[in-house]
Amino acid sequence: MERIAVYPGSFDPVTLGHLDIIERSAKIFDKIIVGVLNNNSKIPLFSAEERVSMLVEVTKHLENVQVMAFEGLLVDFASQLHASVIIRGLRAVTDFEYELQMAQTNRIMQGNIDTFFLTTSLEYSYLSSSVVREVAKFGGDVAKFVPASVIPVLYKKVRRKEDGIK
Ligand code: ADP
Repeated sequence: MERIAVYPGSFDPVTLGHLDIIERSAKIFDKIIVGVLNNNSKIPLFSAEERVSMLVEVTKHLENVQVMAFEGLLVDFASQLHASVIIRGLRAVTDFEYELQMAQTNRIMQGNIDTFFLTTSLEYSYLSSSVVREVAKFGGDVAKFVPASVIPVLYKKVRRKEDGIK
């Protein structure tokens, strides 16, 4: 039986921290499906299609990684894909309470799906998509935060946003 894992998130945009989690989990599971959440309460900077295409580009060296957008409940998405594992990254204690609550809720809804936590690599423990968006907005250097192919897309987007174009 193939061990399929789903790695869900907003990825708005994908950071080096996310990529680190994807690369590490791709060594542990047979197949990783990165699930780009399309029904977030927050209004994202990038559309789901844009977030998927950035992720496809930065994971193209990983044969067992696939990227898909999804709406609705994560456990339903995971079940449809026959995934038995949900992957989440833990950066700091502040992530813990929310992650524990989500993992327990998901397990009550779908007892055969387990959440698998990877602790972040130290060099990325401070990194979040929201910090990256702020730095880019003010013209800061994001090269240490996001994969190279994301840099031009990110600058272009924040510039367009400032110009009032979607
Ligand atoms: P969400 O809005 O669902 O938290 P994110 O895109 O912010 O989505 O994060 C997706 C997952 O990646 C979460 O499990 C989060 O804890 C993890 N993650 C975010 N940033 C990092 C990082 N720098 N290092 C490791 N894991 C991270």
